[in-house]
Amino acid sequence: MAIIRCPSCNRRISSIAKACPHCHEAVEELNQGERAQLARRRWRTQLYHARNLTYLAMGLVVIGTLVWWMTPPAGLTPPVSMPAALLLGLGIVGYLVGWGRVLWLRLMRAPDRSD
Ligand SMILES: [Zn+2]
Repeated sequence: MAIIRCPSCNRRISSIAKACPHCHEAVEELNQGERAQLARRRWRTQLYHARNLTYLAMGLVVIGTLVWWMTPPAGLTPPVSMPAALLLGLGIVGYLVGWGRVLWLRLMRAPDRSD
């Protein structure tokens, strides 16, 4: 017996498990093509989530900039107010993390279409 990754949810399962205890996928009955298809689907979902994180982060940067613009002294002049700095910081970090994840997933590529 060995520990393998579930082709559907990527969590650790026993190699002799008939079904994944986490996502209940019937892993024993999957052929190679179905396993590859599940891996591609998981990759696409992860990419989708990473992109959503970058969009959310861009939204935070825009809102942070607006908050900075509207809090006195008006305009984008220092000092940055605490709420604006928080939104901008979260947005910039989230954007970098999201893009790092997108690039990482692209490097790992979608598993080959072998079916
Ligand atoms: Zn699973």
